[in-house]
This record gives sequence, C-alpha cells and structure tokens, in this order.
Amino acid sequence: MASYDLATLVERVRGQSGGEVDRSVPALASADPDLIAVALVGTDGAIAASEDAGVPFSLQSAVKPFLFALALADTDGAALDRVGIEPTGEAFDAIKLESGTGRPPNPMVNAGALLTASLVDGHDVAGRDERILRGLSAFAGRSLEADEEIARDEHLLGDRNHALAHLMRSEGTLRVTADDAVAVYARACAVLVDARALAVMGATLAGGGRNPVTGERVVPAAVARDVVSVMATCGVYDGSGRWMRSVGIPAKSSVSGALVLAVPGVLGAAIISPPLDARGTSVRGHAAADILSADLGLHAFGRPSSV
Ligand code: GLN
Repeated sequence: MASYDLATLVERVRGQSGGEVDRSVPALASADPDLIAVALVGTDGAIAASEDAGVPFSLQSAVKPFLFALALADTDGAALDRVGIEPTGEAFDAIKLESGTGRPPNPMVNAGALLTASLVDGHDVAGRDERILRGLSAFAGRSLEADEEIARDEHLLGDRNHALAHLMRSEGTLRVTADDAVAVYARACAVLVDARALAVMGATLAGGGRNPVTGERVVPAAVARDVVSVMATCGVYDGSGRWMRSVGIPAKSSVSGALVLAVPGVLGAAIISPPLDARGTSVRGHAAADILSADLGLHAFGRPSSV
C-alpha cells in the first residue's frame, strides 16, 4: 500500500468530466471543482497521501458513520432500537420515515443522522456538540474544529432537515427539539477535515474501532462492525447497489465531494473531489475508488476463487 502511486491515480481521474458542485450553502458552492486528493491509511498505521491531502473541506454526510458509531457507543447499542438499518433507494434528504415504526430508515440518510446526533451523550446542544467534536477528533487522531459559517448556514438553510426533525418529533422518535436536532447535526456536518484525517477516521473503523495511528480505542469492535455493515448497504444512498457492484468497499459519500472508505482489517481511505453526480456522490471520487479497488484487489466479492 505504501508504494501505491497516488499521484498517478489522481492524474488518471483528473480527465473524468461531469458533475456539479453542491450549492446548498455558499461555502460548498464556492468549492474548488479541480481539487482532487486521496489518502490511504493501513490498519497498521502506514499512511500514503497525494499532494493535496492537507487541503481542508467540511465532512458533510461523511460524518454520518461516525455519528452512528458515537450514538451506538454512548447508548450501549440501544440506538439500534431508534433507527432502522435498511437501504431506502431514495435521495439522502427524502422526507420519509420507516413505515409502521416512524423511525428513520437508516443512519446514513439525513433523517437517521439527525436522530443519531441527538443520541450522543450531552445534556444540551453545547454538550452534544462537544461530545461529537471530541469523538470525531479521536477517530481522526487530531483535534478537529467546525467551520462556524458552514454550521450557521446549514442550520438556517436546511429546510428539509427541519422538516424531517419535525416529522420525527410528531412520531415520537426524536426526543430533543427539532431546532436543537438540526443545530447539532449541522455543526457535525461542518466539521473540517482533510483527506489524510478522513482516511485515519476510515482506518479506525476498518481497524475495529481502534485508531491505528494513535493506538486509542475509540469505539468497541462490535460498534465498528455494525457501522461498516450499514455503510456497505446504505452509505451511497440510492447509488449503494451500483457502488457496491463496481467498487465493492463499504463507503460513505457526501455533498462536499468527500468519500470515506473502510476495508476491515486492511485500510481506510478518503477521496475528495467536489463535482457530484445526481445522487450526491463525487464523480471523480467514484472513478478513483473503482481504480483503487481494482489495483489493490479490495472488492469484497472479487476475490479470486480457488475452484
Ligand atoms: N449537510 C448536508 C445536508 O444535510 C449533508 C448532505 C450530504 O452530504 N449528502 O443536507
């Protein structure tokens, strides 16, 4: 892995055209569409990073697996009673809950992440913000901060998130106020990372919840397993089937154009390239993940058969 040529990978996907940067908040609309960075972190702690792996971007939905992990850890698994784990085949911000239960369908769509962010330890918004920032920093192995402008804009402009939070209040599934739920989720989405830090976060999941760089146990192994399982089925929303067929690696997409990938027992990876396809997945990120998976033989179901 350490000898894998990430510069060549970046150049191979640079020519891939198509996609639009997200326009939901000003900071995302003004993202550099030409940024491409990739980082790999082995579960042994080895790091490989391309030239721009230190360029900051907001986590956006790449935070969702980690919110799920913190909610599972802080509730001793009881979060699984409050959020489903089935793929939806619908957009990430669909105004829809699981029929019959009123629960969010899974923790990788907005409804689910609004709910999991409300379940982490903390008595109020500030307490949950603090717990999330501390938890994400432990996953990344360095101290992370939220971009206050993005947090504020997403809180103010996230009408669909407010709608989902109110819907979950009406079903009795969300037990904090709708506004508090959106505030905490928006701030989590606004946390700044870079490809290197996000790859360490992925590697912590791939390493069973232990950060391979710092050695810290961040969440129990059973939590990491649950999170990676749900990334595999729901992490790329209504593109999850397509993603799993071509890349074959559990992953989470996001509207900043970031992707976090976890290959259990092997490595974590992060890719950032802002132009998105219609499902909110980075176009060049998907192309890079295809190449990475093929070159390193990482497809979960692509192992050569001995028969
Ligand atoms: N903060 C964004 C939202 O809630 C995240 C969505 C995403 O990355 N898919 O709309």
